[in-house]
Amino acid sequence: MKIFDYLEQRDYEQLIFCYHRDTDLKAIICIHDTTLGPALGGLRIWDYKSEEEAIIDVLRLARGMTYKNAAAGLDLGGGKAVIIGDPAKIKSRELFYVFGKYVNSLGGRYITAEDMNTTTEDIAYINEVTDFVVGLKEKSGNPSPITAFGVYKGILAAVNEVYGNHDLADKVISVQGLGMVGYDVCKYLHEAGAKLYVTDIDKDKVTRAVEMLNATAVAPEEIYSQSCDIFVPCAMGAVVNADTVDQFKCKIIAGSANNQLADEKYGEILREKGILYIPDYVINSGGVINVSEEMKGYNKENAMAKAATIYDSVRRIIEISKQDQISTSKAADRMAEARITAMKTNRSFDTNPQK
Ligand code: NAD
Repeated sequence: MKIFDYLEQRDYEQLIFCYHRDTDLKAIICIHDTTLGPALGGLRIWDYKSEEEAIIDVLRLARGMTYKNAAAGLDLGGGKAVIIGDPAKIKSRELFYVFGKYVNSLGGRYITAEDMNTTTEDIAYINEVTDFVVGLKEKSGNPSPITAFGVYKGILAAVNEVYGNHDLADKVISVQGLGMVGYDVCKYLHEAGAKLYVTDIDKDKVTRAVEMLNATAVAPEEIYSQSCDIFVPCAMGAVVNADTVDQFKCKIIAGSANNQLADEKYGEILREKGILYIPDYVINSGGVINVSEEMKGYNKENAMAKAATIYDSVRRIIEISKQDQISTSKAADRMAEARITAMKTNRSFDTNPQK
């Protein structure tokens, strides 16, 4: 892999390899862009098959955070970190302590948080050596309720576009995944009067939704072809793919799952089919909005108010999509890029406050 070519093509700022012999820490921190502010993005632990796989993952994820933070209207850039290894074997207080020292050495250019295979306990160890960490249990806590609220707001914006009002009382909505986010989204939709069709591979979670929210259970493989107004994916990624794309009978796809499009081309395919797709990284940004509030001293009302602006972001993306005749996923990228371009002279390494 030609790393500098890759960095040049996608305008990365920094890629940092961190190694510590005593703990066997093998970490990579990537700072994609600090134009809008410090690079915020979580720490993922994964047993990568190769170093190249880890490098590609951290590069891709860091760039994704630049777009997500920019589209969410946050004054934050994009970054990410990965630790290579089996989380069941390598996690220790010492490992996180050393990782925290590396984060600290960047002087605030990168702010870490939880991600796949890192918990609030792990984050607390990192916090012993650096303040450049968010997602602490005693501060913003579990982001899922705010993420769910943001998803609900995004759905309302999409419904208003397609049906000309915010009325969910006559809407049939299919929800895939009844975990921390999905179940809370269902609660909002149920309270607004929607009829729910739900699925999850965990039968207990389905039973709870059927009993508590008057939902109808659907087999996991049947959720894509369920007749409905809105499909709400809140489980895993790549749900819009070659197998599913012709099955959808909905008018809107809007849910929390990350990386919903198996390939970028599905954004355009959905547009051609007349299905309004709400880009995942915009509608699920309540989580990052929530943790970013910690940097100002956490206040839940402020986090909720900021997450409510996802409604406006979705509206803006729909406008760009219609105006430029492009998919909503491309429109979201354009909206994020416009914010960054407008501030391009402001990268943090250009503005060392000590000089
Ligand atoms: P979760 O693990 O609590 O819930 C996921 C649910 O999906 C589980 O109940 C699981 O059983 C179910 N599931 C898995 N495979 C399935 C399948 N094939 N069919 C049906 N159900 C299946 O996770 P979560 O925190 O609710 O997050 C849901 C999605 O939203 C994930 O993609 C996550 O990355 C994304 N997301 C979450 C947050 C957050 O704040 N938690 C923020 C942004 C994005």
